[in-house]
Amino acid sequence: MAIFREAELILPSLYMLDSSGGFIRTKDLIVALTNRLTPTGKDATLIAGRNDTHFSQKVRNLVSHRTLDNLGLANYIEAKNGLQITVKGKSHLVANQLTIDYLMENNFSWGDVKPALVALSDPKTEIDIFKEIFEGDTGATKETKIYKRSKELRDAAIDTFLKDYGALSCNICLFNYEETYGNAGKGFIEVHHKTPIYMYKGADQVKTIEQAIKNLAPVCANCHRIIHRTRPPYTIEQVAEIYQKIRTISP
Ligand SMILES: [Zn+2]
Ligand SMILES: [Zn+2]
Repeated sequence: MAIFREAELILPSLYMLDSSGGFIRTKDLIVALTNRLTPTGKDATLIAGRNDTHFSQKVRNLVSHRTLDNLGLANYIEAKNGLQITVKGKSHLVANQLTIDYLMENNFSWGDVKPALVALSDPKTEIDIFKEIFEGDTGATKETKIYKRSKELRDAAIDTFLKDYGALSCNICLFNYEETYGNAGKGFIEVHHKTPIYMYKGADQVKTIEQAIKNLAPVCANCHRIIHRTRPPYTIEQVAEIYQKIRTISP
């Protein structure tokens, strides 16, 4: 099967179709994907003499080339100018659910998720993700491998943070769970992924984790929520600046 240029948008489109109840109009799909993936650079620029950016043209092509129809993943409904997800489309989405949720819901930038989406559009490439927040109910069997990987990364990160900073304090507000909650807070910190962290099948896990740690930042739960309030997310530096500014103004 030929890989189309717009193939990286297959899973994000199925994600959008599914979250809008199975059907979405082409123009709404363009808006939804643009808002969610916030394309930048050339992707965000207008094509000469057209109302489309390179990104929205890619979404339009995905529909007009009948890419999803040809793969049996969705049907184009001409009368409504939109796409309806098929049973096969739904199962393709479910098979990649954890990965696509991770890529779509952490507000990563388009440039950061694009390589992963390109890799996912080739059925021969398998990637494993490391979830950002993995605590809580992870009973589902499907999640076990990802849970283990994520926990290994988190544990390695905490060792590194302890070595580098001497304590597990928030990189933004310096909150320290142990100082505030004693033993109940000992060893606790959230780990923010500055860029998505995933591993190609067969890659060296130790090396992946070593490289991944450079993309992690220890943050408290409050600051972490603020980081992810915008799309794309604030950077650590931006939230630190906001935090410092408010503290300087407040009496
Ligand atoms: Zn904090
Ligand atoms: Zn985060």
